Amino acid sequence: ENGATYNHNSVPSTNKTSLSPDSIINLDQGDPTLFEPYWRKMGDKCTLVIGGCDLMSYFSDIGNICWFLQPQLGDAIKGLHRAVGNAVTDGRHFVVGTGSTQLFMAAIYALSSPSATHPVSLVAAAPYYSGYKDQAEFLRSGLYKWEGDARTFDKDGPYIEVVTSPNNPDGAIREAVVKLGEGKLVYDLAYYWPQYTPITHPLDHDIMLFTFSKCTGHAGSRIGWALVKDREVARKMTEYMQISSIGVSKESQLRAAKILGVLSEGCQHFRTAASENFFEYSHRIMRERWESLQNVVKNSKIFSLPKFPQDFCNFTGKYTDSNPGDARNKIPLLLLIISSSFEIGQPNNSAVCSSVERVF
Ligand code: PMP
Repeated sequence: ENGATYNHNSVPSTNKTSLSPDSIINLDQGDPTLFEPYWRKMGDKCTLVIGGCDLMSYFSDIGNICWFLQPQLGDAIKGLHRAVGNAVTDGRHFVVGTGSTQLFMAAIYALSSPSATHPVSLVAAAPYYSGYKDQAEFLRSGLYKWEGDARTFDKDGPYIEVVTSPNNPDGAIREAVVKLGEGKLVYDLAYYWPQYTPITHPLDHDIMLFTFSKCTGHAGSRIGWALVKDREVARKMTEYMQISSIGVSKESQLRAAKILGVLSEGCQHFRTAASENFFEYSHRIMRERWESLQNVVKNSKIFSLPKFPQDFCNFTGKYTDSNPGDARNKIPLLLLIISSSFEIGQPNNSAVCSSVERVF
């Protein structure tokens, strides 16, 4: 169920495996299909029928700054943030993107200045999500320049810091680290949902990016959204989207609106409902996976895992754990690596091997 690829002999997913020391496992990609069973159980509640004559126009809402945002999606996003309590939406401009990947590019475009003599510096505190560097450098833009780790950044002049909270890859709750004068911040809040971390308060930053991929696991729909305080920034982000893809698929937007609506509805009465709410389900899956990884790692002298304190989650009304979001996709692979390192060093470590088998 992991999108990662193996370039060594194919690895059977159900059996205990031995890897040779020169085996390479690609941990570059993850795929959030682990939530699929929940949505399968929802049956037709999330089904959408789209006729051949529907949704043909480029335009969705010409009165809105983001003229290709389907109003149903804007409403569903607002409703979900209200139900979860993770972000302020009042007075914000909503910009929809093809995943938060496109919105990240739109945000750095919007925060840069075409008339500047030097590119604006772009930084994130290490360890950071590798996508930022890849995207920033890919087209060799003269508008911005990737400068790497925010903790060692000390250049004069304008900069943009991306703050990922909870962070990918390590799950840490973060604030901006650069304390120089002319900085602008982009908050990537892909994992600020109750299955990954306690929701301690509604965040209220200038630019906040969210994605359907991590919220519900529907990465294939490629829907992300930005909550933006400043009208001009929202306009420039929309302009970026207009130039790069003339908007965002309406089919995807409507599907996201439908599923987010079902999710919000489940949140209204989740403590009394007969069936498990999505966030309870996904938190349980995440916790089980994280515990499996902890069980394997506790026998290791090479690997260790961060420890996160519990915090009070306003959404669940309980003290809850953090479960690093990106690690969840990769746990089978991480276990494979760890177990192989055990097998190489200690050939018959049956405790480790049986934990690995359970998770696979
Ligand atoms: N931000 C973070 C922190 C991520 O982990 C990812 C996906 N791994 C993204 C953004 C991109 O998500 P999307 O599918 O919305 O493009």
